[in-house]
Amino acid sequence: PPRFATVATAPPDSILGLNEAFAADANPKKMNLSVGVYKDASGQTPVLRCVKAAEQRLVDGEKTKGYLPIDGQPDYRDHVRRLVFADSIDASRIAVVQTPGGTGALREAAALMNSQLPAIRVWISTPTWANHQSIFASENIPYDNYRYLADDKKSFDIAGMLEDLTGKTKPGDAVLLHACCHNPTGVDPTAQQWNEIAAVLAQRELLPIIDFAYQGFGNGLDEDTVAVRAITSVCAEAIVCSSFSKNFGLYSERVGAVSVMSADADTTTAVKSQLKSLVRSNYSNPPRHGAAVVATILDDSELTAMWHGELTEMRTRIKALRRQFVDTMKTTGAGHDFGFLLDQNGMFSFSGLNPMQVDELRNKYSIYIVGSGRINVAGMNEERMGELCTAVANVIE
Ligand code: PLP
Repeated sequence: PPRFATVATAPPDSILGLNEAFAADANPKKMNLSVGVYKDASGQTPVLRCVKAAEQRLVDGEKTKGYLPIDGQPDYRDHVRRLVFADSIDASRIAVVQTPGGTGALREAAALMNSQLPAIRVWISTPTWANHQSIFASENIPYDNYRYLADDKKSFDIAGMLEDLTGKTKPGDAVLLHACCHNPTGVDPTAQQWNEIAAVLAQRELLPIIDFAYQGFGNGLDEDTVAVRAITSVCAEAIVCSSFSKNFGLYSERVGAVSVMSADADTTTAVKSQLKSLVRSNYSNPPRHGAAVVATILDDSELTAMWHGELTEMRTRIKALRRQFVDTMKTTGAGHDFGFLLDQNGMFSFSGLNPMQVDELRNKYSIYIVGSGRINVAGMNEERMGELCTAVANVIE
């Protein structure tokens, strides 16, 4: 009998599935505020100018398509280390491995835990990016949740988080943290709160895994390292998973890196060798193009300045859209105060809309947001803000 006849259909990805429904929607007024990609004022997800310029240079200068080293392109890895850690930690304590996107970085971190840290458990925020659970489950790492978003669905439950990290974890457990622009809530700890969190991590001997998918989308490239700095100044070990999908707009090129900080250089050498061995049996070595683009930009002061400008443009535009949404909601009727969105960071916000309201937005207005009420602010459009806000006001009335 055919072996695959018994295969059951897997559920579609909850967020990417919405994209398919959106594509099939014939309503010309449809709006997609679900998937986490940046869109400019014309509704496009643009290729950054600095990326185009770097690609031109790469095409002109490319001499070979030979394999990259297992751990990726060396100058790229060095740039990642400096972006994430600046020079606060000695380079000999950090093993950086280029990965296919931030997802690849998280999966590599989970694989390292699976192979080298038996009995480890990972603690994940409630709520979190849905793929976190799947990634750790795929490497057989058990997970549990710590409190994060307060019951008002607008603010950070720092007391609950610290209580859970202190009272529920076992020494040696891992804790997954969003460095900035928490997905899906947009709610980030303050610098002072990061110090408090870091102190508990150190005191309880917990292993921080920092998901850094939005560096530069919060308050700035350097400003957004506040969590990394707070944690690495009191913890001897940490893992940082970087993605350059959003901040370089290189989504489809799959550019990321996992950086493992160890207590000393000898340990780092051993960890690096294990990371490479995991890569070797998984995808052998990473793709070159996206990392070469990033390295070309960061090797050149002019292209770097261009990138900083374009990143600032994306960040400030998202902040302006937040402001415009909040102001426009106010004009739709009494009590429509979305002011809490102004304190949130990055592409996403928790709107507080319930699943019924989310369904109504989609069925009546062809406005697509994620079932949890998460809105991709970066998918809003200046010119259609009135339409969006009228629809939201109608479903919450
Ligand atoms: N981590 C978080 C919190 C994300 O939101 C994303 C992307 O949406 C990723 C990691 C993975 O990014 P990449 O597309 O680079 O795999």
